[in-house]
Amino acid sequence: MNSNLEIANKTSVDEKQTFDVYQVRKDFPILSRRVNDKPLVYLDNAATTQKPDSVIDSMSHYYKFENANIHRGLHFLSELATESYEKARLKVKEFINAMSVAEIVFVRGATEAINLVSNSLCRSEHFGSGDEIIISEMEHHANIVPWQLLCDRKKIKLKVIPINDEGELEIDAFKKMISEKTKLVSVVHISNSLGTINPVKEIIDYAHSFGVPVLIDGAQSAPHIKVDVQDLDCDFFAFSGHKVFGPTGIGALYGKTEYLNMMPPYQGGGDMIRKVTFEETTFDDIPHKFEAGTPNIAGGIGLGAAIDYVNQFDRNVLKEHEDELLKYATEKLLEIDGLKIIGTAKHKASVISFIIKDIHPYDIGTIIDTDGIAIRTGHHCTQPIMQRYNLPATARASFAFYNTLEEVDKLVVGLHKVIKMFR
Ligand code: PLP
Repeated sequence: MNSNLEIANKTSVDEKQTFDVYQVRKDFPILSRRVNDKPLVYLDNAATTQKPDSVIDSMSHYYKFENANIHRGLHFLSELATESYEKARLKVKEFINAMSVAEIVFVRGATEAINLVSNSLCRSEHFGSGDEIIISEMEHHANIVPWQLLCDRKKIKLKVIPINDEGELEIDAFKKMISEKTKLVSVVHISNSLGTINPVKEIIDYAHSFGVPVLIDGAQSAPHIKVDVQDLDCDFFAFSGHKVFGPTGIGALYGKTEYLNMMPPYQGGGDMIRKVTFEETTFDDIPHKFEAGTPNIAGGIGLGAAIDYVNQFDRNVLKEHEDELLKYATEKLLEIDGLKIIGTAKHKASVISFIIKDIHPYDIGTIIDTDGIAIRTGHHCTQPIMQRYNLPATARASFAFYNTLEEVDKLVVGLHKVIKMFR
């Protein structure tokens, strides 16, 4: 290796904080609270993640010292707030390795990102009657319902890639499904219910060989793996700030410049126009033409702080820790008599859905909550998955890098208590 490069690489590795889970936990104030007089064991990270002090402080700092509306004012505070907000956009661009900040549209979250694409494309020439959109059986409702709404309006057909019993996409079925009628593929990167990590690069490459653009729902991948949209070559990527240790009400849509330029605005209002007359309105450049009205300025700044927080660590080290949690929790849970894991894909993130005999998941969740253990129970906004496995609901433990093996042990003890109560 070229010695300059060697030095550059070494420096960037050295700059990363060493990862000590117990030290890291101190950055998240909520993790030291008690629930029902027990230390909180927070295992509902697929629903939302906890926030470090730096994120909370960045938002409080904005409101205390920088609060002003952005883009429109010439005064000191407005320029300061604009700079902080636009810096956050740059951080998002780098977080997912987009080519340009123009490709980062701030939205409320993954749901709004997908709705933006579906509503905008619906108004464009992209879709015509008889066209098809391909999604999968393991999508979150956020990546089903917006397309159904579009299908109704445009007389388009929704096709669904099936999954196997392990919870993996049937890639051969996908390959048979795609045709000249396909105008979009929209699939989840990591399933929030099953934990499956999908082979999205293979899907994107295959779709592109038919000239079909691909949207990746990255709501669960952004927190767990390093995302590189240029390497994936996806055309759209959606994620939510609150699942990457940032605030709620903010997220991002990445779109390739060629698509965002071609797509008409989805909402109209202030801050997205160049000139308005009663006869005609011309729109601002991307990404601003998609950002009508006063945005979530504090949220954007908080998301930027969350990205800074995550970036201080080597993402591979965080992933190794989560993989260890997944492995340990899987082994320990499978030792419990009558427990069945739903979603046993070869490639999984640290999300475990399970059922125990005929005990209703709501009972499991309610009972272990009395010991301060927070897991999710229900359909996880993936009702078609529940239908696929013929289940009303599952219990789901989802881990973040601040979780510990001791917390897995507490979950196991809690589940034994549940079983005892139903004996
Ligand atoms: N997609 C997936 C895979 C999710 O897990 C979620 C949320 O759980 C969403 C989309 C929707 O995210 P949000 O509610 O933040 O818009």
